[in-house]
Amino acid sequence: MTDYSSIAGFRPAWLGDGRKKLLIDGQAVEARSGETFKSFSASTGELVAELALAGEADVDRAVKASRAAFEGPWSRFKPAERQALLLRLAELVDAEFDDLAMLDTLEMGRPITASKGLRGMLQRSLRHFAGVASAIHGQTLGNSFPVELLSYTLREPVGVVGAIIPWNGPLFSAAWKIGPVLATGCTVVLKPAEDAGLSALRFAELCHEAGVPPGVVNVVTGAGATGAALSAHPDVDKIAFTGSGPTGQRIVEASARTFKKVSMELGGKSPNIIFADADLDAAIPAAAMGVFNNSGQVCAAGTRLFVERPVYDEVVARLASFAQGLKIGLSLDPSTQIGPLVSQRQYERVAGYLALGPQQGARLVTGGARVTEGGLDKGYWVEPTVYADVADDMRIACEEIFGPVASIMPFDSFDEVIARANSSRFGLAGGVWTKDINKAMAAVKRIRAGSVWVNHYFAMDPAVPFGGYKMSGFGREGGSEHIDAYLQTKGVWIRTE
Ligand code: ADP
Repeated sequence: MTDYSSIAGFRPAWLGDGRKKLLIDGQAVEARSGETFKSFSASTGELVAELALAGEADVDRAVKASRAAFEGPWSRFKPAERQALLLRLAELVDAEFDDLAMLDTLEMGRPITASKGLRGMLQRSLRHFAGVASAIHGQTLGNSFPVELLSYTLREPVGVVGAIIPWNGPLFSAAWKIGPVLATGCTVVLKPAEDAGLSALRFAELCHEAGVPPGVVNVVTGAGATGAALSAHPDVDKIAFTGSGPTGQRIVEASARTFKKVSMELGGKSPNIIFADADLDAAIPAAAMGVFNNSGQVCAAGTRLFVERPVYDEVVARLASFAQGLKIGLSLDPSTQIGPLVSQRQYERVAGYLALGPQQGARLVTGGARVTEGGLDKGYWVEPTVYADVADDMRIACEEIFGPVASIMPFDSFDEVIARANSSRFGLAGGVWTKDINKAMAAVKRIRAGSVWVNHYFAMDPAVPFGGYKMSGFGREGGSEHIDAYLQTKGVWIRTE
């Protein structure tokens, strides 16, 4: 029988002795200070790797390499060459996909079957960005200037991008930051999260194997201070950030000094609304996985579940029974559906909310506890948890928990539920379940969020924009806005008489 309680035997050969350096100007280099930090398996607690800890001097070195690359041969790559490069990258990533997925699972603990499930989305994304590379275009514009002048726009790469990503979907986040960089002709310094940086590092190496010139894609592994140095660096033109709101605010402040272009993909507390006429057989499992997927460590999780009163008791009971049926287990076990939280810090945060729920009067229907039996004592597993009779102003209903915790609330009318769904400082996503198309479309129009799913939850595609209203951020990833954020527009005037 396979032993899933140790990462021994699952480590991709690429990990070697587990020591990993920074990737700057196409070279693997130590941090100037010689400092390192360790990354541990969220599932088994074992050491996975020891990575170089980039300081300010390393960030500066990476930004300089990135600037030089931006102005060097990379600027003369034709769109078709960048496209071919992205297609080669897609092939290399596909060939090595199982190892890349394994790196995420080893570090942040996402169940291996879920990590491997991202293959199609990653391929679609890289091929989408390849398509974009040869489709960037400006416009010819009429003008009314008194003399004859031709006016048109040029779309130009914004320059050096500082990309800062979180630990909850490292490979995917890296691809959605680096893909547009390569499509548009920008360059990038990527700062992965300290809890899970390996897949991003390997992805960047594969960019080089695909033919990216040195300096175009750089990776500085490190902690918050590394990201802070990047967001304050005067020669970075744009920051693309995915992470928490408070960190996003710090980045906006730091980047304001040189007016960087900034995009922010932040957290949420998304409403998922089940009307009484919904197909409950479809709605209940989707709503449950809309919360419990990745142990709730998903920014768009539909954690505020509004259920119309006639089906409220039924939905609460069936959702709880679905939650109880999910297989909690070691991340490496292919049958596992619920893996651990990423770290002790994350567990403490979630445990705080688990204590708060009942204190503030929520009814615990199922879950609510840490799981340690069955060899799960080395990481931080939390049972899929369902609270019912949650009031809108309880902290578990207002704040992002980033754990497997659903808050279910009854409602009585359309206008009421829309108002309650919108009474959040976040606006990342929302879900609507009904068989009535008019009701669905009315709800779509009124929900103040960047994505709304009807009779589905969590669909994502590189061609469709994703991003936040309100405190869930600004800027979009996916769709044409994603690419626009990596481009400048230049107005050109040519006298023609
Ligand atoms: P979490 O608290 O869930 O880890 P964060 O938003 O703090 O989420 O982290 C997202 C990314 O932002 C990580 O790569 C992290 O290292 C980085 N980061 C943390 N603090 C800062 C900061 N002050 N400036 C820039 N990046 C930061």
